[in-house]
Amino acid sequence: MADAPPLNTQIIFASRDRKRAVEEAAKTILAGDIAVLPTETVYGLAANALDGQAVQKVFAAKGRPQDNPLIVHIAEISMLDDVARDIPQESQALMEAFWPGPLSIVFKKNLNIPDVVSAGLDTVAVRMPHNQLMLDIIKKSGVPVAAPSANRSGRPSPTTAQHAAEDLLGRVPLIIDGGSCSVGVESTVLDMTGDTPLILRPGSITPGMIEKTIGKVDLHPAVLQGLRQGEQAQSPGMKYRHYAPNAAIFVFEGNKKTIAKNINARYDYYNEKSQNPVVFCAQECAPFYAGKETCVLGASHDEIMCSLFARLRQADDIGYGVILFHYTEEMGLAVKNRILRAAEGAAK
Ligand code: AMP
Ligand code: MG
Repeated sequence: MADAPPLNTQIIFASRDRKRAVEEAAKTILAGDIAVLPTETVYGLAANALDGQAVQKVFAAKGRPQDNPLIVHIAEISMLDDVARDIPQESQALMEAFWPGPLSIVFKKNLNIPDVVSAGLDTVAVRMPHNQLMLDIIKKSGVPVAAPSANRSGRPSPTTAQHAAEDLLGRVPLIIDGGSCSVGVESTVLDMTGDTPLILRPGSITPGMIEKTIGKVDLHPAVLQGLRQGEQAQSPGMKYRHYAPNAAIFVFEGNKKTIAKNINARYDYYNEKSQNPVVFCAQECAPFYAGKETCVLGASHDEIMCSLFARLRQADDIGYGVILFHYTEEMGLAVKNRILRAAEGAAK
């Protein structure tokens, strides 16, 4: 299908004119159009979740497959009944502990929510974001807002308005610049519709944090591996290559010294072939790669999560051809999941 002609994209800097940012965003959403909005996790591409035609525009602008559902964002608990039904009792404790915040909870879907939002599933993922600007926009518009990450499908998620603009300028009418995202990876997605709560996507809210609130949770096996052929994707983020820069990514995991030896050898190999390799690692591992092109993601778990997507985009800007990723346990599940998805299908 041919692309639609480019739109005029208006960019509003909330730090300069917050009131106009909130008003324009709410107006755009209520008019059945789409807007790029900041959240604490990554930038979102938002539409009125009750308006199926508006939500179609999100899929079109992103080039996102229709069988990948969107997360619905609410600003007040009272909005939840419009979106979901049969809310299990334990979820109350989760909402009290983690909302507003980066935890999306999968519930049974209310009939108000068009099928396009949930990609035909009878469930819906809901969260209350921890970003005052986003909350004010949702409140002003008065409707729940469906929003996936504001990147072209397959690309690394945007953690600044500029990243979103790189992907979506001319494809959306409005971008609200609300500064850098503080978390930097997408929300944890927790399915509460089965017998045991199931993590479908890891995020900054860890299994341990959830278990402290509601007891045992399971991790969907696809979080750390590709889907087996024929297996139905429960959280379709599991199904596609995601988060990927143009560079090929190879992930190395295990004993730090052994990995460093392997990465150094692979680096020399790609360097000799003029494929512009770079090593991605935590600060503690940087000394293994002295004299080589290195991208240090940070020293702590939070810092590494927060910088990951920006560094993947930057790698493309610099023109690296191969990313050799030194994964260490301290980086955590969310980073591991994203980098494995980004590496899937990467060409040698
Ligand atoms: P993103 O598009 O990156 O913002 O993330 C949206 C993700 O939320 C999807 O890719 C799914 O992983 C997850 N999700 C949304 N709705 C559902 C649902 N009803 N059931 C399971 N996972 C969902
Ligand atoms: Mg996404």
